[in-house]
Amino acid sequence: MEMDFESYVKSQFGIGDEIIRLAGEAEQSASSQFARIDEIALLGQAKVLSAFADNRISEAHFAPTSGYGYDDLGRDAIDAVYAQVFGCEDALVRHNIISGTHAISTALFAVLRPGDVLLAATGKPYDTLEEVIGIGGKAGDGSLADFGVAYQQVELKDGRIDLEGLAKAMEGGVKAVLFQRSRGYAWRPTLSVREIDEAIAFVKRQNPDTICIVDNCYGEFVERSEPAADLLVGSLIKNPGGGLAQTGGYIAGKRKLVELAAYRLTSVGIGKEAGASLGQNRNMLQGFFMAPHTVAQALRAACLCGAVFARMGFDVSPSAHEHRGDIIQAVKFGKKELLIAFCQGIQKGAPVDSFVSPEPWDMPGYADQVIMAAGAFVQGASIELSADGPIRAPYIGYMQGALTYESAKIGILTAAQRVADAMA
Ligand SMILES: *Cc1c(COP(=O)(O)O)cnc(C)c1O
Repeated sequence: MEMDFESYVKSQFGIGDEIIRLAGEAEQSASSQFARIDEIALLGQAKVLSAFADNRISEAHFAPTSGYGYDDLGRDAIDAVYAQVFGCEDALVRHNIISGTHAISTALFAVLRPGDVLLAATGKPYDTLEEVIGIGGKAGDGSLADFGVAYQQVELKDGRIDLEGLAKAMEGGVKAVLFQRSRGYAWRPTLSVREIDEAIAFVKRQNPDTICIVDNCYGEFVERSEPAADLLVGSLIKNPGGGLAQTGGYIAGKRKLVELAAYRLTSVGIGKEAGASLGQNRNMLQGFFMAPHTVAQALRAACLCGAVFARMGFDVSPSAHEHRGDIIQAVKFGKKELLIAFCQGIQKGAPVDSFVSPEPWDMPGYADQVIMAAGAFVQGASIELSADGPIRAPYIGYMQGALTYESAKIGILTAAQRVADAMA
């Protein structure tokens, strides 16, 4: 007898009839969201193909360089391709930007000088930036605060950027404004590109010299365009790496500012001119080529996850009717055990390390214990199916990523079953 998917996952993944039924309904309900996601992916793909064509990408660009890495054709072409697709003057895309935090830190130290003020426009930035800014960590570690850069923060107002608050905070003189597009570990709506663009235009009306920096992590290719920032910053083991980049980060934007970022990453005077690519160019280019599609897979997975857990009675964010501005789906579990069951279920659906069971741990750079489900080909890559959450009330789980919708669906079914079992 031919076996179908449902009977197979019932026997192999221990998923019950009720979860199968519920997921079927959830999937049906998400069909119009899926259509929108696919349409955006098509546009993103067209932009990427155009940039590849315009920059005449060919086999020569895949060749590795060593040592100083002078005249690395691929490295320069990748910068040009990113800049074109993101609508920027220039970009710095490097495997030796080791993470999103490193990229953002590099961008901040590149543009801020002693006596300057940094203003966060979207509330407290991502947890790992606290020590960079100097609102966490120890004095003397070399944070922005240690270098005499002051910090201010404007809270979101009902989940939206508070323009009045921004204008007020800018009265004393602000050098740079940092916007975080994605929710990070916060229960708040993800900002739309339109809202960020309007806020940037507003900031420029107060003072055209203010440098607007967007932490673009998790946002790339989710909408039709990227924010019109002076600097856009992100990680290659998230969206733009397409699941193939093995490491890296990017800083894209105004040419002069990208140059300052390159000076900070390498050395003043050397900037973008050196840095061996060590054979990473092919994966970076192929990953960027895949990125619009991969992001669409991740978005479909997020929709399915939201729809399944909403049907199970949990608060989810975004809900089916809300704007989706990043690849994250948040589910409020209310109980520590359910958050842990969720993460353990997602892990069961992973291609790598599916036999391990994640437990909460003290992760460097994070204030609370964190539980993370990650069974990725690239360590910590959250464009691959992953889930995590800080162990603090109200025990929100954040799921993101999927190289394929099919694998994510299996992970989500397994997680739903685990949570249902833990509730019973
Ligand atoms: C992931 C992320 C970061 C930091 O990236 P790491 O690669 O984990 O250092 C910063 N901001 C946001 C919004 C993120 O999602």
